[in-house]
Amino acid sequence: MDTSNAPRSDGGTDMAMFATAETQPPDVSAEQVADIAERLFGVAGAITELGSQQDRNFRIDAGDRRYVLKIANPAVPEVWLESQNAAMEHLARAGLPVPRPQQSRGGATLEHARIGDADVAVRLLTFLDGMPLSSFGYLAPAVRARMGGLAAAACRAFADFDAPGLHRLLEWDLRHGEAVVASFAPHVADPARRERVVSVTAAACERLGRVQDDLRIGPIHGDVTGDNVVGAIAPDRRAWPSGLIDFGDMSRSWVAAELAVTCAALLHQVGDDPLGWLPAVAAFDAIMPLDAADIEGLWPLVVLRGATLVAADEKQLALDPRNGYVATNRDLDWAIFEAAAAVPWALAEAAIRDAVALPAPDRAPTPRFAPVIAGLAAEDVAIADLSATSEALDEGRWLDPGVEDAVFTQAGVVALARYGEHRLSQAGIHGADEPATCALHAEVAVAAGRPVIAPAGGTVAEAGPGRLVIECDGAEVRLEGVDPSVRTGDRLAEGDPVGTVAAAGRLRVQLCLVAGVDPPPFATPSAAAAWQRICSDPSPLLGIDCAAPGVDAAGVFARRDGVFARVQPHYYAEPPQIERGWRHHLIDATGRVYLDMVNNVTVVGHAHPGVARAISRQARLLNTNSRFNYSAVADYCERLAGLAPDGLDTVLLVNSGTEANDLALRLAWAHTGRQIIVAMREAYHGWSMASDAISTSVADNPRALETRPPWIRLVDSPNPYSGTHRGPDSGERYVGDAVAVIEGLAQGGDLPAAFISETVHGNAGGILLPAGYLEAVYGAVRAAGGVCIADEIQVGYGRLGHHFWGFLEQGVVPDVITIAKALGNGHPMGAVITRRAIAESFAAEGSFFSSTGGNPVSCRVGLAVIDAIEAEGLQENARVVGEHLLARLRDLAERHELIGAVHGIGLYASVELVRSRETREPATEVAEAICERMRERGIVVQPTGDHLNMLKVKPPLCITRESADFFVDQLDLVLRTGW
Ligand code: PMP
Repeated sequence: MDTSNAPRSDGGTDMAMFATAETQPPDVSAEQVADIAERLFGVAGAITELGSQQDRNFRIDAGDRRYVLKIANPAVPEVWLESQNAAMEHLARAGLPVPRPQQSRGGATLEHARIGDADVAVRLLTFLDGMPLSSFGYLAPAVRARMGGLAAAACRAFADFDAPGLHRLLEWDLRHGEAVVASFAPHVADPARRERVVSVTAAACERLGRVQDDLRIGPIHGDVTGDNVVGAIAPDRRAWPSGLIDFGDMSRSWVAAELAVTCAALLHQVGDDPLGWLPAVAAFDAIMPLDAADIEGLWPLVVLRGATLVAADEKQLALDPRNGYVATNRDLDWAIFEAAAAVPWALAEAAIRDAVALPAPDRAPTPRFAPVIAGLAAEDVAIADLSATSEALDEGRWLDPGVEDAVFTQAGVVALARYGEHRLSQAGIHGADEPATCALHAEVAVAAGRPVIAPAGGTVAEAGPGRLVIECDGAEVRLEGVDPSVRTGDRLAEGDPVGTVAAAGRLRVQLCLVAGVDPPPFATPSAAAAWQRICSDPSPLLGIDCAAPGVDAAGVFARRDGVFARVQPHYYAEPPQIERGWRHHLIDATGRVYLDMVNNVTVVGHAHPGVARAISRQARLLNTNSRFNYSAVADYCERLAGLAPDGLDTVLLVNSGTEANDLALRLAWAHTGRQIIVAMREAYHGWSMASDAISTSVADNPRALETRPPWIRLVDSPNPYSGTHRGPDSGERYVGDAVAVIEGLAQGGDLPAAFISETVHGNAGGILLPAGYLEAVYGAVRAAGGVCIADEIQVGYGRLGHHFWGFLEQGVVPDVITIAKALGNGHPMGAVITRRAIAESFAAEGSFFSSTGGNPVSCRVGLAVIDAIEAEGLQENARVVGEHLLARLRDLAERHELIGAVHGIGLYASVELVRSRETREPATEVAEAICERMRERGIVVQPTGDHLNMLKVKPPLCITRESADFFVDQLDLVLRTGW
């Protein structure tokens, strides 16, 4: 590759030299296309027009083969078309997925046809299957990365290619961007828009001019955009880049322009992330490493590309007002242009450096600074901790509007909020977009009126109310909360007085290494690393250490992964570092707040003050085991038994659901003297030997069904939508089948010890059991002398809203209830409530003791949870919000084909995603991808069920109607715009 910047065909920048600039696409009818295809290439089939800026392209479906017939704009010299054919052959040989030119009946890959008076050049190419990426509203970061990788692969394969068509003046060659915009801009009708295009272009070209002579040149495709990258639709329904088409814009140009074009194209498909194009940069760099000039030139090129797009659209529309393709693109192109122009140059460059793991460029060393406030000593400065884990923000105080003032006041007379701290106080709930939490400044609370001095020699760049910017050797010292005593333009020596701390008594100090950037006070977590390259640690400006410890979610995860056995799964490919919860929200270390739709354990909400107080008080009094006599265990067991129906009056306390179920089985065995247990398919009951034996879900254990011990019998999971029996009369059939299994056992002499199931099938996605199911099944079990066990671990304890227990929904009473999860709101607790006679049968076998089951702290926690459920009306809330949520989800199902069914009751629900409503095949990969996108939108939701295609909806019971709406609105948005 050379670096000579002069285009070979020397024409300067005279627009007349852009051969395709002033022509209309050929006017051709479908009949003519059919005739050309058949006559010249021997191909016949259904014809569909494809969009094009200047040519006419038609897809021909000829049986199992598909082609594109390209009729060139007459102004395009044939040598260019031949060059494109050669380029495709070249890239195909290098293994790139590109169309292949087909030979005509006469053996040529370039043919001619007469249309009206014109002689047009015609080519037939293979059609690459897939969807253009531009037809998707949103592209996942990994898809964007693939697109960058494809651009780099094309660029690399092109390196040793040459053809006459590369050496030409092309309006899309960004080397002529400035001239193209100058020439086309007069077509922009709106004067304000025209002026904006011109001025932004001038700024881009000025920056580009700094590195232009060093930019590498080589053959590039020049248009690796969503229109020209087709994607194969994977099972997750994302379009993963699988082919590159349209070589009409290839030229010799700057290599960085190849990537710039791709980045620009991505700008409207990245959600609301202004730096969402970075994955493409990192992937490009991995294949075609960017050099220093590429890195500096890239963003100016992206902006220039945006400007040429809008200018060219306006020009083309002026020429051909009926061109629907250009008309539709116009708004998108404006959005691209504005999105590109909105990213500050320095930020884009810093972000690119960060993405390719390059250090900051060498700059003049930052001057040595004297503190702007004399006499601050580290030992006198208290930390005003505003981070996600700050104690000062407990109990939801982070949501109070005046919390920062309160934390400063509470911290001390002289207090510091640190640079680089992700302030939870800057976040709020229901934020679909990342909040800007990372402080790019340090903030000190000091007495108002305290003198502020110049930290080094320099010039006052700006002095206004409350604000002062001093330029020192290229760096900027930016102060907020100061009453300046100097004026813009004043020259300063180190130590000169520049003002006093303003009345609020809080000074923000920012050290910006790049002049003229005007950085914000806070950055979003995704942009924080890039911004911190621009606004560095201002410790020298205060003379004390101001930097907060960094956040490293990946590092924490790597440490966990090193020691925590991997058999214990984790949520998300790149797990956020969740460090706080509050009510029905989870909060990560960067202050990102997520709506928590999955934590059914924390029934009364995260960090519940009543629960926290109970733990703390009892831990300070006594924590021991239930062999001792203390009031907590008596209080708690009475209260639990009081929640159960009459006759279930005896309690055993353990530490988890697994233990509760394991114990329930032992009770049944002891009571009946038998071993056979009847369980339900798609169930999870725990991990111990016995509770695992009755766990049949293949999502948890793919070999579950083949490996059940001989004492297990199974009945179907009664999903009326996608189970064995479907539709309105499926209920009776599930009942009949289950009763038949139990009666069959009795007849065969294999008498059952017990039947165990969830009372709403939670693990299968909150499937309501058919009407009369448990009545019939319990009846059959009891007739055979067996015990009925209700696993209420997920669905019981108020969650269903209409009923405190799931079995009440079925109008039955079991013999044994197992509960856990909700009991302790996250504190490890489990319990079995049963009839005294059953407990006595167990006692006959010996004693039962759990060292921590029923300990005083757990009992007090359990009491606090019941108190909260009752005092806060949480069962009623589950009913009201749950019904609203279900109604909204059912409404969503009307509008999105992907949702096959909505299951559940109260706050235990699921959204079943299917590939097709006809086959009801589970959309497993889609569910996972949607969960990733929902996390980006501030919501934690996860798949469940045997096929992991049901979005489980089981939030803490304190969830509000507003939060339920936020969830459904975001799900709607994701289903509409993609994932
Ligand atoms: N039963 C059901 C229905 C469950 O959902 C679970 C846990 N997912 C268990 C039992 C086991 O509870 P634990 O994890 O507390 O042992």
